[in-house]
Amino acid sequence: MNKQIYDLKELFEISKSLNSTLDFTILIDSLLLICMAQLKVLKVGLFVRKHLDSDEFSLHRNYTGFDIDHALTYAIPESHDLIKLFNNKYGCYTLNDIRNENVSLEDLAPVTNLEPSLLVPLQAQGKINGIIMMGERIEEGEFDSYEKEYILNVASLASIAINNAGLFEMATTDMMTKLKLKHYLFSILNEWLGNARISQDFSLLMFDIDFFKRVNDTYGHSCGDMVLKYVARILLDNIRSSDVAARYGGEEFVILVSQPGKNMALKIAERIRKTIEESEIIYKEQILKITISCGVVCYEHGLDISSEHMIDRADKALYHSKQAGRNRITFSEK
Ligand code: GH3
Ligand code: MG
Ligand code: MG
Repeated sequence: MNKQIYDLKELFEISKSLNSTLDFTILIDSLLLICMAQLKVLKVGLFVRKHLDSDEFSLHRNYTGFDIDHALTYAIPESHDLIKLFNNKYGCYTLNDIRNENVSLEDLAPVTNLEPSLLVPLQAQGKINGIIMMGERIEEGEFDSYEKEYILNVASLASIAINNAGLFEMATTDMMTKLKLKHYLFSILNEWLGNARISQDFSLLMFDIDFFKRVNDTYGHSCGDMVLKYVARILLDNIRSSDVAARYGGEEFVILVSQPGKNMALKIAERIRKTIEESEIIYKEQILKITISCGVVCYEHGLDISSEHMIDRADKALYHSKQAGRNRITFSEK
């Protein structure tokens, strides 16, 4: 009885911990730590959708302990019989349990070769939204039914938290470009300005596609949309996970770069400008060339500046790039 009360208290703490963040990476880290500590395993990983509209569950990079071959893909398609099994007979399974249910795992060789001791599906609102993969146990032997029930309780708390994080992501993301929305950008910018006064400098880069109206007018709106997605991809490819890329308006974008300094900001802006200038975008067998203009502002330690003022300075620098002939970068001096 004492153990059950203790475990219930633990579950309560786990629930508090999992529901205290909407940040996906922090959430996954804390879930994996909880699994390791509570179920005494040395290896643990989580399969989740990489993007909101992915049709497979991919091993999240924050796994622990597994010996991963980076040349292989560790993913479970949503259409796989394993997911059907999880949906039809919800519970946690060893590889043998799964085979006993006549589900073939042959096509999941990279995953099964990791020799998971248990696969635990996460289910929210009747749908699977992740799978925990447990590795070797510290203690010998298989999980008993009490432990399995316990891990399913953890999984049900985790699935709600992951569902909430997904909803938050959806509410803050422009679904066409997969960039963040303007209001989210401002909330992060305000947060960074709050933090920057005491800690780190950062930069804000504002971009606007040159003569974009012509693309729409010449090739049509769907071509324009394709160009927007293409540019968004380049922005995302040129920033780190700690940075933010947002769609500020129709064909205007802002990125917040967490590294300090004018040189670094200009280097990133130039890399993006050049990549876009050199790109050949194919639309209906035609080659399209586009360029982009940019305005750069750096936050420096001790500067008393509001988010609106920072955006305004980037906008003025961008305007200067346009006036000076487009396809260029202007740095906003103090
Ligand atoms: P400039 O070099 O001065 O920036 O010229 P521009 O043509 O890019 O600027 P302008 O602001 O006149 O045109 C922006 C165009 O972007 C007008 C609008 O129709 C288009 N646009 C805005 N949002 C979208 C969208 O979601 N999809 C498409 N295809 N076009 C969009
Ligand atoms: Mg514009
Ligand atoms: Mg434009």
